[in-house]
Amino acid sequence: MQKGRILVVEDEIKLARFLELELRHEGYEVLVTHDGREGLRAALEENVSLVVLDIMLPVLNGMEVCRRIRHASDIPVIMLTAKDDTMDKVMGLDLGADDYMTKPFAIEELLARIRAILKRRGGTAAKGRQLNAGDLVIDTERYQAFFRKQPVELTKREFELLKYLVENRNIVLTRDTLLREVWGYDYAGDTNVVDVYIRYLRSKIDQRFDTNLIRTVRGVGYILENE
Ligand code: CA
Repeated sequence: MQKGRILVVEDEIKLARFLELELRHEGYEVLVTHDGREGLRAALEENVSLVVLDIMLPVLNGMEVCRRIRHASDIPVIMLTAKDDTMDKVMGLDLGADDYMTKPFAIEELLARIRAILKRRGGTAAKGRQLNAGDLVIDTERYQAFFRKQPVELTKREFELLKYLVENRNIVLTRDTLLREVWGYDYAGDTNVVDVYIRYLRSKIDQRFDTNLIRTVRGVGYILENE
């Protein structure tokens, strides 16, 4: 029985390995990264339930990683501070961390906090609510979309169209399919409304971020492809 997927971002190899083994033993799936940038990538792309994040990290420090995670996601974060540094704790919590542990800590204490946070969040928090396609992240429960960690303001219909495109990424979707699945009715004939909404999405994402997320397949429809 899967309890959730935990990302450990810790550059001390022995501690990272120890956490990995302990968390596995508790029944979690575990991902481990050893620097801030790789940790941030994994936090945003790997559909994790919780992040255990060291503060002193190479490439990108834990504070910055936490700040960037919070721009795009509300996955729980537990920060690991190297010393009993009140400043770090306050900053970490200001940046949106859910909790912190001061090294050295008892593993039972960390496990207890992880259990408490995941329970508060309703078990495997990330499950089924966050969808990713390259630089695009959408939160299907909060109706929020982010591109390169920047929020994208969408109307409900625009969001639903985007969500359907992401759920069916790398598949060419006809206008009729989009109309039926997103607008919820058979509307034989006038598919202009789909083109209009695709145009809205393009102005809010493709043009704003100078990208080519939604491609037209001539004579057929549209496709959203992972870069
Ligand atoms: Ca460290």
